[in-house]
Amino acid sequence: MIRLDGVTVLYRERAALRDISLQIEAGERVAIIGPNGAGKSTLLRVVAGLLRPVAGTVDLAGSRIDRLDRLAIARRLAVVPQLPTLPFATTVEEVVALGRLPHEHPVRGMRPGDRAAVAAAVDRVGLGHLLGRDARELSLGERQLVLLAMAVAQQAPVLVLDEPTVHLDLRHQVEVMELVGDLNARDETTIVAVLHDVGLAAHFFPRLVLLDKGRIVADGPPAEVLAPDRIREVFGVDPALVRLGA
Ligand code: ADP
Ligand code: MG
Repeated sequence: MIRLDGVTVLYRERAALRDISLQIEAGERVAIIGPNGAGKSTLLRVVAGLLRPVAGTVDLAGSRIDRLDRLAIARRLAVVPQLPTLPFATTVEEVVALGRLPHEHPVRGMRPGDRAAVAAAVDRVGLGHLLGRDARELSLGERQLVLLAMAVAQQAPVLVLDEPTVHLDLRHQVEVMELVGDLNARDETTIVAVLHDVGLAAHFFPRLVLLDKGRIVADGPPAEVLAPDRIREVFGVDPALVRLGA
């Protein structure tokens, strides 16, 4: 579903990703972890076609991503960005409905199927109590949930999320992880999530990709990727502090 071959990304002269090769099959659920500045968000931006590598290729659902236009990408892949900034004054349901843009009829606009998808996304993310509110007045955590609902409404076969739980309290963190798990298990959505919380990643994801200084240093099941020596080396902390599978 997603394939990177020898991908290198530079910001000015500095490499943020170095020679990354990675393959993610349809229906997989993968968490990208690693210290601050490792290149996690950069990797997601490349996968989403928002950033062009200086070397290497990116394929999405069998097509070279640089040959797909924004609309074609949006039908294949939905993004939940890291910073929950919302573009303009509008209600929660209008923001969620933006997720339907790639499917809307060019003349007739929202059709019943689009409205049903918006209602289902609102329901699944549990936003009913926020309907009618101005999205800009919401807390960061609430905005994060609105952007998640927008991505769910998009109904793309691939969902990429950049630290979707940073602004959430514990209960909502777990609920978002469970929803992502459900989208993966029931809807067969391929999931790629950047998570800063290694414990959450290990508990909810069968495959972790560990990035450090722009390179993949480990890729596999949590118990293997999060070996004590590696935690000490990459994160620079006592492995006993990282609760796995909690
Ligand atoms: P992570 O998400 O793992 O914290 P990022 O992918 O955001 O890391 O960043 C990787 C590296 O690239 C960091 O050193 C960061 O400072 C740098 N970087 C990220 N975005 C930009 C940018 N727009 N311009 C210049 N440098 C950037
Ligand atoms: Mg980041």
